[in-house]
Amino acid sequence: MSRVFNFSAGPAMLPEAVLKQAQSEMTDWQGSGMSVMEMSHRGKEFMSIAEKAAADLREIMAIPDSHEILFLQGGASSQFAMAPMNLLRGKTSADYINTGAWSKKAIAEAKRYCEVNIAASSEDDKFSSAPAQGDLKLNADAAYVHYTPNETIGGVEFNYIPETGDVPLVADMSSTILSRPIDVSKFGVIYAGAQKNIGPAGLTVVIVRKDLMGDVIDGTPSMLNYEVQAKAESMYNTPPTYSWYLAGLVFTWIKDRGGLAAMAEINKRKSDKLYAAIDSSDFYANPVKPECRSWMNVPFTLANADLDSVFLEEAKKEGLVTLKGHRSVGGMRASIYNAMPEAGVDALVAFMAEFEKRHG
Ligand SMILES: *Cc1c(COP(=O)(O)O)cnc(C)c1O
Repeated sequence: MSRVFNFSAGPAMLPEAVLKQAQSEMTDWQGSGMSVMEMSHRGKEFMSIAEKAAADLREIMAIPDSHEILFLQGGASSQFAMAPMNLLRGKTSADYINTGAWSKKAIAEAKRYCEVNIAASSEDDKFSSAPAQGDLKLNADAAYVHYTPNETIGGVEFNYIPETGDVPLVADMSSTILSRPIDVSKFGVIYAGAQKNIGPAGLTVVIVRKDLMGDVIDGTPSMLNYEVQAKAESMYNTPPTYSWYLAGLVFTWIKDRGGLAAMAEINKRKSDKLYAAIDSSDFYANPVKPECRSWMNVPFTLANADLDSVFLEEAKKEGLVTLKGHRSVGGMRASIYNAMPEAGVDALVAFMAEFEKRHG
């Protein structure tokens, strides 16, 4: 069976070249006689893999020396707790911007540790937009400001980085990291579960400003302490070695293709094509304000929801899979991360037009 175009929101497609390289190195990594999975994380082979991955991520994201890179486990969901545990630093409240399902989960978890001020919410808007800078009610005494630059379920993306003055900005970048260049120096913490745009599940990348580490709330487990992990070079315990290795292959793949500027150009073009197909038809619709539409996750509905299952079935026959929308939203969702080839978007757009002709 040949490979399909997999529009899954996560775990998502990986670049085929990366999978092939991993396959060719599966049983014997570069003459070591071992699979990466079998290596000691403290041996020189794995150390070289780990260090190269970190150096390449630092290079492609232009991460300044002021920031540490951590390769952790527990997913983005663990960061919902680790952010307050590590960043409250004696303060009692934090500001959160609420733009959808993932923001809400982060807020619910933070409430277990501190007072949460909602700096802005688009809930009344059915989460179809992101607030503008002028709409943020920021509290100068907040320990940090947390937001979700890309809401994976609603398909809503900020087209700007919130300005928060001296208050550190914390971003759940799970579904948009590596999609374009960003100014990392503007962030206190960036975190991302790997399974969207970095590599396989099991790895969580955390980029943290060094001066924010070291003042955790009482009772914080060592494993959840950014400073402990930074001092141990993310090897306080056995790290997710194989996911770390594959992430490294993805970073090299991005570098070889021209880095994040090149990714941004392709991602913009891919999403423009898909939104144009949706907007030019009365049969398909996307509820998100055009200036807040995600480059990575494109939800859309059919004019007649009774056709949803037919659409999914017929798409699957064309090798276009995992297009079912999130259960909370319904309809369809096409996730088009870096690894989704432009040909996959072209094939989806062609299928949508053809489907509308027959059923519209
Ligand atoms: C997928 C996702 C999460 C959850 O990630 P886990 O690694 O499964 O915990 C959190 N936030 C956003 C924005 C996501 O897309």
